[in-house]
Amino acid sequence: MPTVPLERILHSQGFGSRKECRALIRHGRVAIAGEVVDDPFREVDPQGLVFSFDGKDWAYHAKAYLMLNKPAGYECSHQPKHHASVYALLPPPLNGRGVQSLGRLDEDTTGLLLFSDDGQFIHAISSGKRKVAKTYRVTAKHPLADEAIARLLAGVQLDDEPAPIAAAGCERVGEREILLTVTEGKYHQVKRMVAAVGNRVEALCRVAVGGLTLPADLAVGDWRWLSDDDLARLR
Ligand code: URA
Repeated sequence: MPTVPLERILHSQGFGSRKECRALIRHGRVAIAGEVVDDPFREVDPQGLVFSFDGKDWAYHAKAYLMLNKPAGYECSHQPKHHASVYALLPPPLNGRGVQSLGRLDEDTTGLLLFSDDGQFIHAISSGKRKVAKTYRVTAKHPLADEAIARLLAGVQLDDEPAPIAAAGCERVGEREILLTVTEGKYHQVKRMVAAVGNRVEALCRVAVGGLTLPADLAVGDWRWLSDDDLARLR
């Protein structure tokens, strides 16, 4: 990959305007391979670059693709109304480069939430046309009878929907727990589907999007970059 002035690399990673990035570099806050680089115009190859900012390593990513294990109590909005924003859980440069969540989870829903600054990717995964499967672990208030599971699979009528909506999968994992897979992204879809069979969602956790599952070692509230393998599971 051709080399690029360091100030441009920092700017592309969300550290601020070009002017702000030049100042950060001149103040000695950026190091490469353990050596402070205070020349903003030092030519650097961004491919595979890991630089440190204020002593913390930061890997260069041409586009940002990441996952968060969303905790309850956070809204998927830049202007949250009643709770904190999920964007507050990401380090400032990721917001500086304008990452957006792929779809939204309710404030009280936990689990796998993806973010990117690649508009085409966001559209491809979130658009209803692609019918990307989303799997939720649902804890219901009352026991879920086999009949309720059969109805979810056959299709339930939701208010304001022209036709019944069927789960793409529904597997029992406990008396009050199911793994429910849907391919649409309707407002409060899972809660409304469960309500349509006379029950109520007590806890909702998204455990998979497409072939990508929430990693067991990603703690609630933590985020990480998606690997090429992760991305292949989504495409
Ligand atoms: N369905 C819901 O009801 N809530 C979510 O957050 C996601 C899917």
